[in-house]
Amino acid sequence: MQIDDREYLTPPDNEAIKVYECYLCDTPIYEGEDCYEIDNLIYCEECIDKHFKMISEKADISADLADLECHDIK
Ligand SMILES: [Zn+2]
Repeated sequence: MQIDDREYLTPPDNEAIKVYECYLCDTPIYEGEDCYEIDNLIYCEECIDKHFKMISEKADISADLADLECHDIK
């Protein structure tokens, strides 16, 4: 009986399947893991935090902050 070498190159079915790669850090994201998509770019859990921090610095949120302060003071 001949053994097909290609069998060994095929990953077993129970192995995690890499579905994405993080856009920022290239971390592989496997099936079932948390990941986030913004503008068709995939971010891991760590980088989505960085992404939001980056964009929040640029955003003008002074109106929202003033509103929150009003609620906090009362
Ligand atoms: Zn990442």
